[in-house]
Amino acid sequence: MRGCPVCNLDNQSVPSSPYSLIPWELKRCAGCGLVYMVNPPEYVMLEDEFAWEKTRSEEREKRRRRSPLLYDIGHGFSTIPKRLLRRDKLGVWVRRFVAPGPVLDVGCGDGSALAQLPVQFTPFGIEVSKAQAQLAQSRVASRGGRVVQADALSGMKQFEAGFFSGIIMNSYLEHEMNPRDALQLACALMKPNARLIIKVPNFDSCNRLLRGARWCGFRYPDHVNYFIPSLLTRLVRDSGFRILRARLTDHFPTSDNMWLLAEKHIS
Ligand SMILES: [Zn+2]
Repeated sequence: MRGCPVCNLDNQSVPSSPYSLIPWELKRCAGCGLVYMVNPPEYVMLEDEFAWEKTRSEEREKRRRRSPLLYDIGHGFSTIPKRLLRRDKLGVWVRRFVAPGPVLDVGCGDGSALAQLPVQFTPFGIEVSKAQAQLAQSRVASRGGRVVQADALSGMKQFEAGFFSGIIMNSYLEHEMNPRDALQLACALMKPNARLIIKVPNFDSCNRLLRGARWCGFRYPDHVNYFIPSLLTRLVRDSGFRILRARLTDHFPTSDNMWLLAEKHIS
């Protein structure tokens, strides 16, 4: 059974969280309070069987059947503007905070975010799903970058230490069963003072508090860490970074997601 990825407590004797969806068991850590999945699927199952693009469309279908009205309202109201805002925020932060050079998108999906990076950045990606990795590779090849098809930890080990100007973890860290290892590896791959941009769902969002188990941030078995701002900050800081931005406007409770900007810490 997996221990808490933030404080390492094993939580063996802690009862399951009501947010569990059998066979996927969630617990709230007795030490730091993080809600996390104790029995996530192995990385190899994510390559195909539980590939994110498949489980996501199944999840959408389930939600549509369960509450068609809410689904439509939610979709009509929020999805398109949020997507635009989200894409824009990532682009704005990369342009504003990352020095020109190679940029790695960990969990790059189909590579659409990488493809939109301005020319001063060379796009690199890691993606566990075979189908998505192929698509992403086709998008970055002409820019001099490449995409590694692997889980994030194995993928990161294929790059040179001190290589990247920036690393993007956009909707990735909530999927990672070893987020501390991933952050430490990322830190090693970065140049001094390179920047890390993180976006994850915010478990403390109003929507989660209001909708409970029906919150869109719950994904089984995709999401294995349910961060809140203070615990994300703690984990990133403990992994070798200095926090540059984790303001209230970056984790406003009306948004389902939160953002964080950090810099490789040189002691
Ligand atoms: Zn903990």
